Amino acid sequence: MVSEFATSTARKPGGIELGIPTPPGTILVKAMSEYDVIIVGGGPAGLAAALYTARMNLKTAVLDRGPLGGQLLNTELVEDYPGFDSILGSELAMKMGEHARKFGVEVRDFEPVHEIDVEGNTKVVRLESGEELRAPALIMAAGGLPRYLQVPGEKELSGRGVSYCAVCDGAFFKGQELAVIGGGDAAVEEGDFLTRYASKVYILHRRSELRAQPILIERARENKKIEFIFDAHVKEIEGDAKVQAVRYEQHGTVKELKVGGVFIFVGFVPNSALLKVHVDHDQAGYILTDRNMQTSVDGIWAVGDVRAQLTKQIATAVGDGTTAAVAASQYITSLKDAARA
Ligand SMILES: Cc1cc2nc3c(=O)[nH]c(=O)nc-3n(C[C@H](O)[C@H](O)[C@H](O)COP(=O)(O)OP(=O)(O)OC[C@H]3O[C@@H](n4cnc5c(N)ncnc54)[C@H](O)[C@@H]3O)c2cc1C
Repeated sequence: MVSEFATSTARKPGGIELGIPTPPGTILVKAMSEYDVIIVGGGPAGLAAALYTARMNLKTAVLDRGPLGGQLLNTELVEDYPGFDSILGSELAMKMGEHARKFGVEVRDFEPVHEIDVEGNTKVVRLESGEELRAPALIMAAGGLPRYLQVPGEKELSGRGVSYCAVCDGAFFKGQELAVIGGGDAAVEEGDFLTRYASKVYILHRRSELRAQPILIERARENKKIEFIFDAHVKEIEGDAKVQAVRYEQHGTVKELKVGGVFIFVGFVPNSALLKVHVDHDQAGYILTDRNMQTSVDGIWAVGDVRAQLTKQIATAVGDGTTAAVAASQYITSLKDAARA
């Protein structure tokens, strides 16, 4: 099923043994494996895609640099994934991983991908271990990471009052006072959204002017529950079992706000740089796709948090993965038809 599309590798497995001289930093190809579909990233998007491609009898590998689950592993409670009124992120991750494995997906966790390249119709995935994987179809599901403030208390209280997602966690803070950190679109829009639950939202921005779009600023200024604090440099998030206060410096004076939660929106970095070949993306690095998750490169789809879209949620990531899996299957069939003609 696989080999009829895969081109043979120019590099020989076992480069070390052959004594081929290599410049420092070169990844040696130690082995080569072939698949129908390779999925980079074992979060909700990648695992959903894998489940579908495996059930469609396509030989599938999922690669993740860490344990399976992606951002689910950083999520305390999930209350907005259909079918589960409340579930631990880690438990949902485990269920998704087991589900994909049940249908024969080759799961390779703790397997960092070094780069993704294209040779004709073949997608080449080079692992940091030196192994090379090849397939006609590649689904990019590498997600991304929120930018951290990197202040004391942030990491320790993450999931216990420190959050990076208003839609996910806002409902846990009914009637409480909250701090939002940031001054761009996300901070202002999410701050406004959080007033659906919070009694008051302070938006702390390190500059004297916001970077958000004027329409978002106007809406937030009209919202009586929002108070802007400018020139505020966050120094620490305080609390024992959960967030109790945020400490910041303003014009040389250290101040403290008593809040029940701190929402941090200072940026998000999509993991799109793995693609060696050019794939169209927006200014922030999010991969652009059509409605079938197809990127600008034939045979490469992008799903979940790594692609440009309205929202970053588990349900949308899973939906993206499903769409890409079906599209990838159709693509493989069309390659077979072309090979037969
Ligand atoms: C703190 C927090 C709480 C959240 N709470 C909720 C919630 O309650 N409800 C909700 O719907 N959404 C929530 N979200 C958002 C949701 O978790 C994401 O939208 C979702 O996980 C995106 O799935 P994904 O598969 O696209 O990416 P990810 O979950 O980020 O998975 C990507 C995977 O790719 C892997 N990867 C990256 N680079 C490489 C590489 N070089 N080699 C191999 N593997 C690589 C990563 O290790 C990771 O496992 C939350 C997000 C955060 C940060």
